[in-house]
Amino acid sequence: VADAEVAELTGPGRTSDGHAVKLLANVGSAKNVPAADEAHAEGVGLFRTELLFLDRASEPSRKEQIAAYGEVFRAMAGRRVVIRTLDAGADKPLPFLNQQGEPNPALGVRGLRVARQRPRVLTTQLEAIAAAARDSDADVWVMAPMVSTLTEATEFAAAVHEAGLPRAGVMIEVPAAALRAGDLLGVVDFLSIGTNDLSQYTFAADRMCGELADLLDPWQPALLRLIAICGAAGRDTGKPVGVCGEAAADPQLAPVLAGLGVSSLSMSPRALPGVRASLARYSYDECRRLAELALAAPDAASARKVVL
Ligand code: PEP
Ligand code: MG
Repeated sequence: VADAEVAELTGPGRTSDGHAVKLLANVGSAKNVPAADEAHAEGVGLFRTELLFLDRASEPSRKEQIAAYGEVFRAMAGRRVVIRTLDAGADKPLPFLNQQGEPNPALGVRGLRVARQRPRVLTTQLEAIAAAARDSDADVWVMAPMVSTLTEATEFAAAVHEAGLPRAGVMIEVPAAALRAGDLLGVVDFLSIGTNDLSQYTFAADRMCGELADLLDPWQPALLRLIAICGAAGRDTGKPVGVCGEAAADPQLAPVLAGLGVSSLSMSPRALPGVRASLARYSYDECRRLAELALAAPDAASARKVVL
């Protein structure tokens, strides 16, 4: 097999003319790292930390947390690991943390909002992440879920730096945050777009509701417009803007996301080869052109057709 073909199957994410789009893996624990390695992931773009907190009556100890985070960091030595602080609530409720009986849990005290009531849970987690990071050679970045204001981002970044971690970012899951991507990049180092929740909140459509799948389609031009705002802010500031929701796993969407200014795609490891191959088929100029066409499409089905 020719070198170019091997690179297309296993190399770093690139358009046909060499524009880099980092291809990263979503993991929930060290158990997922072998699959990420087999798929030649360039790092981890979303380490969901909920797993350690599930099915228990109280918070895991700092020691348990250091062990669990350290396992992933050590396995990813020399590579980037974007770890997300606890995203409890809504579709991931934790009885010992979340209020019972919220009338609208998806609109309630979830994600970073839990820190309003329980700030120690966040600071303990950040201290554990920092201790585990010090004990490894991974390039550890930390981000918060469910951020909606500049104030939240500023306070989160301060807490991350206070713990001794250099790279703080926020997820873009709420339209209010996407609209202010440029301002957010004034106070954090990177953004990561969680398209699962961003679709849910943009279309007021429960992400668990199969009947509304057409509204939750990542090709919806309104969603693409919010991603475009984030991508443009990333280009303007030179700071990374990734996508880590399900949309990142759609091979046809990859050139569109690259054209919108997205600099990394993080997905389930099994989706990596298809996305890598798709990206390699288009030049960066073609990606930008496809992005423009998709943005201007009247609906999701027409947007999809611009790439086929
Ligand atoms: C998302 O919302 O797109 C995301 C990546 O986070 P989660 O699916 O864990 O809510
Ligand atoms: Mg989410």
